[in-house]
Amino acid sequence: MTGGPAPEGLGAGDWFQERLFPNVRQTFEITKVLYRERTEHQDLIIFETPTYGRVLALDSIIQVTEKDEYVYHEMMTHVPIVAHGRARRVLIIGGGDGGILREALRHKTVERVTLVEIDRSVVDMCLEHMPTIPRKAFKDRRTNLVIADGAKFVAETQERYDVVIVDSTDPVGPGEVLFTEGFYRNCHRVLTPGGVLANQNGVPFMQADEVTMTYRRRRKSFKDVGFYVAAVPSYYGGLMTLGWASDNPRLRAVSPVAIARRVASAGLEKTRYYTPAIHQAAFALPAFILPHIR
Ligand code: SAM
Repeated sequence: MTGGPAPEGLGAGDWFQERLFPNVRQTFEITKVLYRERTEHQDLIIFETPTYGRVLALDSIIQVTEKDEYVYHEMMTHVPIVAHGRARRVLIIGGGDGGILREALRHKTVERVTLVEIDRSVVDMCLEHMPTIPRKAFKDRRTNLVIADGAKFVAETQERYDVVIVDSTDPVGPGEVLFTEGFYRNCHRVLTPGGVLANQNGVPFMQADEVTMTYRRRRKSFKDVGFYVAAVPSYYGGLMTLGWASDNPRLRAVSPVAIARRVASAGLEKTRYYTPAIHQAAFALPAFILPHIR
C-alpha cells in the first residue's frame, strides 16, 4: 500500500492522482486547490473538481467528496443505529469531516455523540471548505468533540456507548492502530452489552486481505462478526466492505418490518442511499468476498 504527500504546486488544470494502490491510480481534474497543509499527522489537501465537487485527500488518498459522501455516511451510521434499535450514546472514531456525526444526530433517540479525531485541521478545514458535509453538527449540544488518538481514547475512557463507528483512514500512518486486535478489544470494552461496532473496511476487490485481517482480529473480542457492503463512487474498486461486530447475533437479522418501523420513528425517510430494503440487502455479500471471511 502506498500514500504519502501529494506533489507540491498542484493547481487549476492539474490532475490529482490518488496513490492508494501500487499499480492503479484514479485521477481527478483540479479546478482549484482550496487548502493545503502538512499537519502533525498527515498531508492534507482540499481541492475542487468538476465531477465530485470539493474533495478531501489525506496522504494522497481520497477521504470524502461532496457529491457522493452520503452513500458512505448513511450506511456507516444508520445500519448500526437502526439495527441496535435503542442507541442513546454513540462514539465515532475518526470522521473529522463531520458526515457521520451529521447522520447520527438525525436519530431522535441519540442523546450524545462523542467524536474522537486525531487531527484538528481535518475538522477545522472541512468546516471552512466543505460545510455541506458537517452542516451544524459540530454546534449541536449533543456533540462532544475530542481531539485525540482514537486507540488511546478507547483504552482509557470510563464512558460506555451503544454504538461505536470507526470512520478511519486506511491501515497506514495514524490509522494503522485502528485495525489492531487491541483496538477492537477496547472497542468491545467501551460498548454496552449487545452494542454494535461498525468500521471502514476497504474495497474488497482491491483490499481482500483487509477483510481477512479484520475478521480474525474482531472475532477475538466479538461473538457475531461480519460485513455489509455499499458502492461509493469515489472509492476506487467497486463495492466497499463495512465491518459489523456485536455480541447480539439477532441484531444482524432484524426483520424488514422492524427496520421500516424504526426508520419511520427515527424520521429517516429523507435519505439519499439508505432505505430499509438496502439495510437488509447490504448484508447479502457477493460470492468473491466469502472466501476471504475466514
Ligand atoms: N471515509 C474515509 C475512508 O473511508 O477512507 C475516512 C474519512 S475520515 C476523514 C478519516 C479520519 O480518520 C481522518 O480525519 C484522520 O485524521 C482520522 N484518523 C486517522 N487515524 C486516527 C486515529 N488514530 N485516531 C483518531 N482519528 C484518526
